[in-house]
Amino acid sequence: MKHRKQAPGIILDLDGTVYRGDTLIPGAREAVERLRRQAHPIVFLTNAIESHVEHADKLIGLDIPASPDEIVNASLVLTHYLSREVPGATVFAISDPPLLEALSADFRLSEDPDEIDVVVASCDRTFDYRKLNIAFKALQRGARFLATNADATAPVAGGELLPDAGAVIGALEGCSGRKLEMVVGKPSLLAAEVALERMGQPASECVVVGDNVESDILMGRRAGMSTVLVLSGVTQRAELDQACVQPDYVLESIASLPDLLDNERTPPPPTEPFACQETVGELPPE
Ligand SMILES: [Mg+2]
Repeated sequence: MKHRKQAPGIILDLDGTVYRGDTLIPGAREAVERLRRQAHPIVFLTNAIESHVEHADKLIGLDIPASPDEIVNASLVLTHYLSREVPGATVFAISDPPLLEALSADFRLSEDPDEIDVVVASCDRTFDYRKLNIAFKALQRGARFLATNADATAPVAGGELLPDAGAVIGALEGCSGRKLEMVVGKPSLLAAEVALERMGQPASECVVVGDNVESDILMGRRAGMSTVLVLSGVTQRAELDQACVQPDYVLESIASLPDLLDNERTPPPPTEPFACQETVGELPPE
């Protein structure tokens, strides 16, 4: 950007923005290369729970050089939050293995409802009645109730949709009468905070780029970043009229991002708070 000395930091979503499933979005490799040449700090921010190393390996496999340090995933955001707010907590996570592995490095995992301090809902392809009952009993006892993300479904290769964390949240809310306290992944401010900390730039010097208006763009607007929606994934242009927030820019895909950053002045960050998704994704009151 012509008016800045330091190139703005770029927070890049992955699925739907850089790749779709296992296929690179056309032009994504060249776009990331150009952003790196122009010295934009980059952090890849995803609600997926696979490890940093797996995400970096996937990018490298698609010929996009990336370091695990550049990846911020929902597992990292969750462990960051728990370490700060409930250090030493005993956790029960309904989740696929990557999140359990990430949590077990810093927290004790338990299936005993009497000792569970925090229940985490995530995507779990082996979710069953036994796990539901453990979480139900822990929630009845007053355990914290968090989720990595609240997506109802997740797209997989071939365009098929599979149930995601939203299904687990619904099951737990349905039996316990409890309401989910917080989603730690996008659009949470917490996810923005961890990404900004990793990047080392303030929100006002960052641009978030993603395909989902309800997660990427809402998080960016909440955090005071400039926002770019790409139409290569979840959100279609026709849906924008009904969206609760609007991006600063809309691009067909990430391929046009370097030109946008070269040619456009980043607009001032938004100052108005946004009322939608009042509880999910918000940080709890101080
Ligand atoms: Mg996405």
